[in-house]
Amino acid sequence: MKLNELTITEAKKGLADKKFSTNELRDDCLAQIKKVDSKIKAFVTVGEQGEEGREGTELSGIPVAIKDVLSTKNLRTTASSKILENYFPVYDGTVVERIKKGGAVIIGKTNCDAFAFGGSTEHSGYGLSYNPWDLSRVPGGSSGGSAAAVAADECLFALGTDTGGSIRQPASFCNITGLKPTYGACPRYGLLAMASSFDCPGPMAKTVEDCEIVFNWMEGEDFHDATSSAGQIKKHIEKQDKIKIGLPKEYFAEGIDEEVKTLVMAAAKLLEQNGFLLEEVTLPRTEYGVPVYYTLIFSEISSNMARYDGIRFGKDRDSFEDEVKRRIMLGTYTLSAGYFDQYYLKASRVRSLVQKDFEEVFKKVDCLLGPVAPTPAFKIGEKSNDPVQLYLEDILTVSANLAGIPSLALPCGFTKENLPVGMQIMGPAFSEEGLFKIGKRYQELTDWHKRKPEIK
Ligand code: GLN
Repeated sequence: MKLNELTITEAKKGLADKKFSTNELRDDCLAQIKKVDSKIKAFVTVGEQGEEGREGTELSGIPVAIKDVLSTKNLRTTASSKILENYFPVYDGTVVERIKKGGAVIIGKTNCDAFAFGGSTEHSGYGLSYNPWDLSRVPGGSSGGSAAAVAADECLFALGTDTGGSIRQPASFCNITGLKPTYGACPRYGLLAMASSFDCPGPMAKTVEDCEIVFNWMEGEDFHDATSSAGQIKKHIEKQDKIKIGLPKEYFAEGIDEEVKTLVMAAAKLLEQNGFLLEEVTLPRTEYGVPVYYTLIFSEISSNMARYDGIRFGKDRDSFEDEVKRRIMLGTYTLSAGYFDQYYLKASRVRSLVQKDFEEVFKKVDCLLGPVAPTPAFKIGEKSNDPVQLYLEDILTVSANLAGIPSLALPCGFTKENLPVGMQIMGPAFSEEGLFKIGKRYQELTDWHKRKPEIK
């Protein structure tokens, strides 16, 4: 076995037993990048960076790929937009700094939709990334490069960000595991902002166990981010046994691919056979998720993007990609005098109702289980010409972002065409530990997450 194929847990053990060195581990990842990245195109920048000589920490020498919207000191950070083609941050984002403290070695910056606006990585200013399971398909997005890099064993884990599904959906399309943390659990300082009341950095890895290790380094209060939270994470899904899993009926409704539904339902049944309880529940405002999410994020985007005024940062605004321009214009509209009440304010109110849906449902069940995306990975070009088609793909992910709750995405099977399918387990705010527990149990019972793509 090549070292780049190891999980963090396996690599830690191998390093501790002195079976191989951190240099050998890194070199195998770099060799894999050389071998496959001309096909996958997961990376915008390949470049090594870590703290020399940090030994004995939990992530010592573990190679990581970082989504290019997270600032890395002296390592080019483009947000996959041409406007920041030559931007070299002078500081590390908090989550980057924290995993470096843990010993992780950055081996490169991964491609995404420009500024994380998208769900297929087709809106990058640096070209497409390709799904390792089928090169004619998208890896998902916006953290498509991070997901593809992990799936193709170009690194041991990656960091992504999830504003409306951007960790979970690519994880699901590429057969890896990813966590969208509780809003505020992982600080946003040094993340090039998309929609500030939604943005969540999080881990993307080969197993739930690895996501947990990385998350524990990332989480916690940060002086630089007033919305970051202190010490609440340890709140479990309290019960030790007879955990009640809710199946929201809206997540298995018409419009969701039949094979996806069947595979996710089979995963739920397997958990039931192993001591978990299942109950059908309802999240009646699911259908408002997409319009409410897009109204709010366009507004937040238009104000966040004002800093790229062509004077202070990067290049001229002509360098913005089309999807970036589209969102700025739509957000300017929803915030303009006369329309603010009609759009932004109204959407904010419905956001509270979506949150209420979850509050109600978590009185009855401990967590929720459903598909991540309505379809498996789609073909390149299939949806890119119709923005609304692409926005509708987010129907099952945006609610967790509107409510600020955590959601763990993990592999749960393959379609007849051999495309991976993922499920997500959502819990109340700060229930990450509980989600990891359920996820780890599922990965003990199954080996979907161990399947590797044959890159051809
Ligand atoms: N696909 C969603 C969008 O286009 C989510 C993006 C994200 O989470 N960064 O907004």
